[in-house]
Amino acid sequence: MTQTPRAFTEERERRDLMPWAARSAESAGRVRPEADGDPVRTAFQRDRDRIIHSKAFRRLKDKTQVFIAAEGDHYRTRLTHTLEVAQIARTLARALRLNEDLTEAIALAHDIGHTPFGHAGERVLDELVPGGFRHYEQSLRVCDVLERSQGLNLTQEVRDGIVSHTASGRPGTLEARLVHLADRIAYVNHDIDDALRAHIIQERDLPTGPIRLLGERHSQRIHALVLAVLAQSAGEPQAAMREGEAQALEELRQFLFQRVYFGSPPKREEKKAEGLLRQLYLFYREHPEHLPEQSAPGDEGVRDYCAGMTDHFAISQYARFFLPRPWPPEE
Ligand code: MG
Repeated sequence: MTQTPRAFTEERERRDLMPWAARSAESAGRVRPEADGDPVRTAFQRDRDRIIHSKAFRRLKDKTQVFIAAEGDHYRTRLTHTLEVAQIARTLARALRLNEDLTEAIALAHDIGHTPFGHAGERVLDELVPGGFRHYEQSLRVCDVLERSQGLNLTQEVRDGIVSHTASGRPGTLEARLVHLADRIAYVNHDIDDALRAHIIQERDLPTGPIRLLGERHSQRIHALVLAVLAQSAGEPQAAMREGEAQALEELRQFLFQRVYFGSPPKREEKKAEGLLRQLYLFYREHPEHLPEQSAPGDEGVRDYCAGMTDHFAISQYARFFLPRPWPPEE
């Protein structure tokens, strides 16, 4: 009997991946048991496909990364950020002989529950939602409950990676740890690139120590940081970055906080975005009849709806409920 593509991949995982890598055939399974006769894809590959085909994934195209409703066509969105994270994470996973498919699935879903308007949106929901709001918990809720009205029924390994991709999380797999590193490598570098493009900073403003160590160009820096993870992790059951480069990356991140994330002119638009989302949240709480039919009751449903919005949709709903329209309506 000829081997199925899936059996071939599972066999290759058993043979070629490091002993400490996650193996799809040994997955802890799905939340709800389901028949799995896929002859082509492994469990982690199916998770990746479920995520890519979800509506929440498509909405990432119109969610702010750092610059709200960016005028230029070349600024990152939450979707292109996600793709950059996935690409860096896959490069790391393949080089370290960890599970590339698991890494990719976690990376593609890691920000899927992010609010509109980036961290400004997250701050507003955190303040209004009873018990607070964290985008990584919402990402898991999107995958477990909200998509396809009963969730995507992902494997435990992908779920664990989604909910623990931040610094404080304790992921159960090295693949999840790689996504966390890739997230940081991606956003620090592309936020520098976008801030340069927006003339918020100049090349000469960048701190000299990290630039000397990592390189003057965007691509050189990403390459140096990838090599620093490989140097620290190859042949070891760990996923970490060499100390010198980790410090340089942290220094660049602090620079972004000081010069870009707070107080820069485009960031001042965030106050307006916060006010807009706050008013929408309070409006839907008073008028649940405007929520989608299958919404959870009370604050839960309002949170799910507001968190799921794109920047554009939030602005259009605000206009619908709060801005006067000319009368009589035009034909
Ligand atoms: Mg991210």
